Amino acid sequence: MSSFRYWGVEIWFVSVVTAIGLLIGLFTGYTGEILFCIVTAYLAWHIRQIYRLKYWLTESRDLYPPESEGIWSDIFHSIYLLQRRNRKSKKRLAKILNEFRASTAALPDGAIVLGEMGEINWFNRSAEALLGLNSKKDVGQRIINLIRNPKFVHYVEQGNYQLPVEIPSPIDDDIKLAFRITAYNKNQRLLIVRNVTRLYQLEKIRQDFVANVSHELRTPLTVVNGYVEILADSKEQLPDFFHRPVDQMGQQILRMRSLVDDLLTLSKLESGDEPVREVNVKPHILLKRIVEEAKVLSEGRHTIIFNEDSTESIRGNEKELHSAFSNLVFNAVRYTPSKGTIKVGWEQTAKGMKMYVEDNGHGIEQMHIPRLTERFYRVDDGRDRAIGGTGLGLAIVKHILERHGSQLEIDSEVGKGSTFYCYFSSVK
Ligand code: ADP
Repeated sequence: MSSFRYWGVEIWFVSVVTAIGLLIGLFTGYTGEILFCIVTAYLAWHIRQIYRLKYWLTESRDLYPPESEGIWSDIFHSIYLLQRRNRKSKKRLAKILNEFRASTAALPDGAIVLGEMGEINWFNRSAEALLGLNSKKDVGQRIINLIRNPKFVHYVEQGNYQLPVEIPSPIDDDIKLAFRITAYNKNQRLLIVRNVTRLYQLEKIRQDFVANVSHELRTPLTVVNGYVEILADSKEQLPDFFHRPVDQMGQQILRMRSLVDDLLTLSKLESGDEPVREVNVKPHILLKRIVEEAKVLSEGRHTIIFNEDSTESIRGNEKELHSAFSNLVFNAVRYTPSKGTIKVGWEQTAKGMKMYVEDNGHGIEQMHIPRLTERFYRVDDGRDRAIGGTGLGLAIVKHILERHGSQLEIDSEVGKGSTFYCYFSSVK
């Protein structure tokens, strides 16, 4: 029966009973009393139904509603349907939740949900295995109290999660883990932990291979270089057509030696095995020396100015900083046409101590800039190779600056020139 029919029957029933009551009242003269009895009986019936409804909803474990008549039968039935629908969606939600739990548990990557203060709200089984977390003890603890590696703590706190951070597992130094945070909702974060030991080992094999090859090439190169030098020294005794080949052999050997040296430097920096060995370094003295060397390299073709605006010191490795700064200054000399101007500077700024090299050379197209620090990346392969660099200079600069907590920044405009700069914190 539809709801409207229940209500129709109810109204019809109430009207008929009231009409009969009125009729009897008219005949007997007790209209008020009879109507009072009818209303009281009707009210009592409703109160009883309300009580049965309350009992069914709160006390009874029965799924089905109690039997009733009239509109109450309709009300009981509607509530029953509503509950059945709720129960179904509850079951569906529980099923989805279970499936989600099972799938995240089966994930090879660890997943940890962090709350507003960085406290652990939930983690899967892989996180337990990779980090040694314990679901009884560690839920609610701040993640940085459990993983205290400074690199990780800095990563969690600084708020820039674009790149993952790689550190050894807190339970086994031989396992390398990559952590990546994704922020969602307002203040929640999902921390994904991946075991990258295999990748790390492959990278190490590659680095060792490059280091070994470069090392092995040094001895034969030294021997060949020795013979070429002897030939160059006794050029007058050689027939004329040998002069050019001997000169070229000398140049190419020099180039191979710089390449091997740069490769060795780069693999040492990449392996990160050697600590920075920090001392107080005075960059203005370092830069003054480099500018003098640059003038020799330029052979008077450029105007090279040193803006010594500060004498502030920084903490770092003098040899590494010399290598980074000289790469930038010598590049400016090599990539700036004759009569160009090169400005080298060391100054105090709001962002920290700034080292910069500014030239008015060819400039670099915007699309090349993010790739300049890749190994062997050249803007114009033919031209740049002829200029004589190894293609490794800026890769070395990038690693050295990273080891000093800084990074290379580049502004450039084609036809106008380029500025290479970086910031450091001064010694307190
Ligand atoms: P290279 O040994 O070839 O100079 P680098 O790693 O030092 O290698 O530089 C990479 C590339 O960046 C260069 O090949 C050149 O194309 C570009 N580059 C570097 N410095 C400058 C500069 N001051 N002006 C224009 N281009 C530059």
